[in-house]
Amino acid sequence: MISLREPSLLKDQCFIDGQWCDAHSGKTFSVANPATEEVLAHVADGDAVDADRAIVAASRALPGWRSLTARERARCLHRWFELIMSHQEDLALLMTLEQGKPLSEARGEIAYAASFVQWFAEEAKRVYGDVIPTTGNDRRLLVIKQPVGVVAAITPWNFPSAMLARKLGPALAVGCTVVAKPASETPLSALALMVLAREAGIPAGVVNVVTGTDARGIGEAFTGSPDVAKITFTGSTAVGKQLLRASAETVKKVSMELGGNAPVLVFDDADIERAVAGTIASKYRNAGQTCICANRILVQSGVHDRFVAALNAQVSKLAVGNGLDNRTQIGPLISERAVSKVRKLVDDAVARGASMLTGGSVPGTGGYFYPPTVITDTREEMAIFQEEIFGPVSAVTRFDSEADGLRLANNTRAGLAAYFYTRDIGRIWRVAEGLAYGMVGVNEVAISNEVIPFGGVKESGIGREGSRYGVDDYLDIKHICLGGLS
Ligand code: ADP
Repeated sequence: MISLREPSLLKDQCFIDGQWCDAHSGKTFSVANPATEEVLAHVADGDAVDADRAIVAASRALPGWRSLTARERARCLHRWFELIMSHQEDLALLMTLEQGKPLSEARGEIAYAASFVQWFAEEAKRVYGDVIPTTGNDRRLLVIKQPVGVVAAITPWNFPSAMLARKLGPALAVGCTVVAKPASETPLSALALMVLAREAGIPAGVVNVVTGTDARGIGEAFTGSPDVAKITFTGSTAVGKQLLRASAETVKKVSMELGGNAPVLVFDDADIERAVAGTIASKYRNAGQTCICANRILVQSGVHDRFVAALNAQVSKLAVGNGLDNRTQIGPLISERAVSKVRKLVDDAVARGASMLTGGSVPGTGGYFYPPTVITDTREEMAIFQEEIFGPVSAVTRFDSEADGLRLANNTRAGLAAYFYTRDIGRIWRVAEGLAYGMVGVNEVAISNEVIPFGGVKESGIGREGSRYGVDDYLDIKHICLGGLS
């Protein structure tokens, strides 16, 4: 049913200690195509016992891997990068089948994923130490940086390859070993990356993947193990908080990339055409299922009606369908549960006085589709304003002054990405500095790539991924006091 150019990329077992293996229980779970609801594969349903085996393998592999030079590790990672890119088409196809996003977006995600492997292979060669001016002539004060150790990575379904690569790239490059758990909705993309990691010569045990539906059990095995030095997680704020609490017991290092609630502010002096195009690009990517998707569209009164008319005209033309069809711009949502959640938020907003301009029904051909929707007159007390929509719905709120716009934008516990459109240079600085977010796009929404620090403030997370700052999250600082000198 899945026809790949390289059929060996399709795997349905855990990858532990360089071997493909069934779950110890022998159980499997099914992975379905969200566009058709067809079962694509039955995958090993690993649990805490399998997670423990993976931790043992990663611990055993650690001394060998961390004692290589950064250049030696980079050789493996560069080969892995090349292999990912040379199988881009197959990897994109697998992703569209299990995740639903249009094939063109899936191809883009594979290149984005690979870029983290390449970037960190280079960056790890530049992990410098320090020599501190001494406080006494009998001693010298040094600082070195060392890999934290075994890293446990838990990743979501919305970017099944990129979120894993963004963690594996820096971890492996600086000499950590990894145990990873991909989302059970999208394990095939992660497993295919492991086929290529092995082919690239990354040694057995250096990277391990445990697939399974017992997310809590696997998570507890990771957080409970004294052999795991760090948890890196991308996913919901609720699960992130749970992992933070559980990590306290063994005082683990943590990187948390949690939910967003991104505002797009469109000021009266904005280039409206650009603002509409940017809003659509941000809002409707991956059918609205990204943590930096425009979630609240805040438009100043003077341009509100013009902006809404242009937005509405374009959204009503977006093509919904199976991501394998080249014409598709909006694929399915990940599950029936996701569709009901979006529907509930929209129904609630409309019941409280919001107006629906575009929206309606999608042909009932199976699959978890939700129509591209535009609603206006949303207000800050509505759930749709406070929660991540994670669906193809533009929720527009009108504001009057710059101060009102900024207050509305910051009225959330999330602080991941924010965007705004204006041509006034003073306003650019006032608003960019006033937004309580980790990332701000000014007249631009395509803000993420491997060279920038991705991450949030407030409840959107801890730590940064990508960029030269991204390696720090996988390193310990060690002070060495060299004494007894005469
Ligand atoms: P979403 O709601 O978008 O699926 P989640 O935070 O539930 O986001 O999922 C992100 C990742 O976290 C997935 O790999 C999922 O299996 C995993 N996960 C979910 N619940 C837990 C948990 N209690 N402990 C550890 N991992 C979990």
